[in-house]
Amino acid sequence: MGRTDRRRPATGPSAGIAADHGCIELPAFLESELRTGHPWVYRNHVPTQFEATTGSWVCAQVGRLRLWALWDDESPIALRVFSREQQPTADLIRRIVEEAVHCRQTLKPAHTTAYRAINGEGDGLPAIVVDVYGPYAVIATYSSATQTVLPWVVDALDHVLSPRGILHKRVAGEPNQASKPELLQGEAPPRDLVVTECGIRFYADILQGHKTGLYLDQRDNRQTFARFASSGAVLNLFSYTGGFSLAASLAGGAVTTNVDGSQPALERARDNFRINDVDSSAHEFTVADCYDYLSQASRSQARFDAIICDPPSLARNRAQLDHALTAYARLNSLGLRLVRPGGYYAAASCTAQVTPESFRHTLAIAAQRAGVSAQIVHEAGHAFDHPVNLGHPEGRYLKFLVLRVFDCKRR
Ligand code: SAH
Repeated sequence: MGRTDRRRPATGPSAGIAADHGCIELPAFLESELRTGHPWVYRNHVPTQFEATTGSWVCAQVGRLRLWALWDDESPIALRVFSREQQPTADLIRRIVEEAVHCRQTLKPAHTTAYRAINGEGDGLPAIVVDVYGPYAVIATYSSATQTVLPWVVDALDHVLSPRGILHKRVAGEPNQASKPELLQGEAPPRDLVVTECGIRFYADILQGHKTGLYLDQRDNRQTFARFASSGAVLNLFSYTGGFSLAASLAGGAVTTNVDGSQPALERARDNFRINDVDSSAHEFTVADCYDYLSQASRSQARFDAIICDPPSLARNRAQLDHALTAYARLNSLGLRLVRPGGYYAAASCTAQVTPESFRHTLAIAAQRAGVSAQIVHEAGHAFDHPVNLGHPEGRYLKFLVLRVFDCKRR
């Protein structure tokens, strides 16, 4: 459960305006959560008579803690905390950006020109993500309240990275429902921009691709998967532009089958094979619904040495959690049936509402339904350049497990 529990009422004597400080007063039970770094306050924990316009700085007092947050009139998260010391200034934002960019020198792997430079709450800039694609920087914002700090972020990025162009995408709901990018500074990127990820070349379509162009959060997991899937037949479910397949193929010649509902994504996957000098004619690219594909493959008794299953988020809110768990169980039970005994099955979940524990449990149910047994050989989250605030568990949305799969009768 989120630390600032939406279901707890905000009524009571402490939920008022502390006029002497010019700060709003928040319920005392939030103090320990906010003190340990949780950056969100839900609307029902804010005094009901309080009014402000989206993007205003609000000073809030909770117990002995004072903090400064951006007000959002639209989202269930009414306040996003930016500072516990002062009302944020351009200087403070520049220091945060500099620190985040500086530590990427260690967090991003060698031969990598596409990386996350700022991971929102994880880097102290709530609802603001910055991805770098070679000479371009893409800012994705998850709340219109961030408009107040956006010019400061642009100035800071210009100062530390001197990008050729800075773009902005507004995200409402799912990351792939982002607005068309707006050019804030410099020049727009070409459609055929090529970046590298651990030495692998990828087209990055910042203007029309999903998220900010590529799914950078899975980079380290693509490398890990390649270790277990470097040879034999590999199935990449929800392949997008073929990232997991290329890592596997380049690691040892795996022959991949890429399945995705998007034809343009698969065309780009082929292009990505080509620019890495991998003959795409040896690989399959199938435009299909993955659930249909799996049912069909099961009927025809297809078998693979390794499978990666990386669906899009299956829930937007807590109310959809049960539905998401049911879908994960069904999808993964269909997938697990297709692994040759002794082979590997990598399962990913980017649904924030699904905890690592419940995802593991769902995979156990899926294995039982598939009539196989499985061991966890590896478990991870996002790539290293997506750090998570220790006091903000909601920030860790990505789950990634590699399972070794056996025939049930063998155990
Ligand atoms: N694994 C990819 C990212 C996957 S993103 C990577 O490493 O880059 C999820 C992908 O699922 C998107 O490309 C989207 O087009 C595809 N998708 C969503 N629903 C689908 C469905 N029901 N069947 C097939 N593909 C689907």
